[in-house]
Amino acid sequence: MAPILMYHYLADPPADSPHRGLYVPPAEFAAQLELLRRRNVATLSPTEYSQHLTDGAFPRSTWLTFDDGKLDNHAIGLPLLKKYGAKATFFVTVEPCLSSAAGYMPVPALKEMIAEGMSIGSHTMTHPRLARLPEDEMRREIIDSRKRLQDALGDPIDSFCYPYGNWDKRVLDTVAEAGYSLAVSTVRGNRNGEAERWCLKRAMVQPGRTGLRFRYLFGLLYHWEHSFKNRGKWKPRAS
Ligand SMILES: [Zn+2]
Repeated sequence: MAPILMYHYLADPPADSPHRGLYVPPAEFAAQLELLRRRNVATLSPTEYSQHLTDGAFPRSTWLTFDDGKLDNHAIGLPLLKKYGAKATFFVTVEPCLSSAAGYMPVPALKEMIAEGMSIGSHTMTHPRLARLPEDEMRREIIDSRKRLQDALGDPIDSFCYPYGNWDKRVLDTVAEAGYSLAVSTVRGNRNGEAERWCLKRAMVQPGRTGLRFRYLFGLLYHWEHSFKNRGKWKPRAS
């Protein structure tokens, strides 16, 4: 049982934002890492999670994932992860990161992440809804983003994350063909099997998840609740 936790931004949620749910206050993230350490829950790399899918390795673990590649992941997240001896994977939007756009982690920050034991994955070039793109643009977003990241960082890129959780069979096949070894979705859930390697379910960490409310993300109750909610909308639509 190794739930994949989904984070976006580490900051206090802005009061008036419709995206409040994407913000986790730094103090809450620290408390979550502290709890994981206290309970001896290992934090996995994509390679370790892939092993977990294949043969059940790392039974007491979690995979911490961050979407988008925002600067707070480096400024706030990295020091906390180091402090608690944890590791995480950062799915970065490649174009704004490689061009050092305001608010995104530039290449030196990404390299520092890797040097500190973190992993970087692709979240496409420009963060589009992949299933809505023409074939050539869709392929560029998936295939070129991996190549560009590998060239810039000098490190293999093995994992992929669908922007907006938007994918269909055509998109999923291209991700598998591009050389990634696994991909995460925004479908909620805390249990995955080998069959879900290209559209892994995640548990979203929203503000307020401390103590029991955080531990709930790991439990059977969460699994049942979301299995029920996901029924009928889980399989990829035919393209
Ligand atoms: Zn995203």
